[in-house]
Amino acid sequence: MQKDSEQLPSDPVSTTDIVMEVGCIDKSTNPQHVRCADCGHVWIGLYLPQPISTAAKIMKNLCCPMCGAGAKRIMVHL
Ligand SMILES: [Zn+2]
Repeated sequence: MQKDSEQLPSDPVSTTDIVMEVGCIDKSTNPQHVRCADCGHVWIGLYLPQPISTAAKIMKNLCCPMCGAGAKRIMVHL
């Protein structure tokens, strides 16, 4: 009896944690495409939603994987 009541609380907690983590990744991340103004390549540059400061930092460090154009040549592709 005592062993059962000790084990029961720990199992549902760990299962809930895993479900919540997977659900969080699936529902709250939204791939955002960006476009290179030089060669027209479009790719996923960041995931939204993000704090605006984080999104700005990512955009600032983006570089075109096709032609190497810098962040100033990368635009958000809507
Ligand atoms: Zn490019």
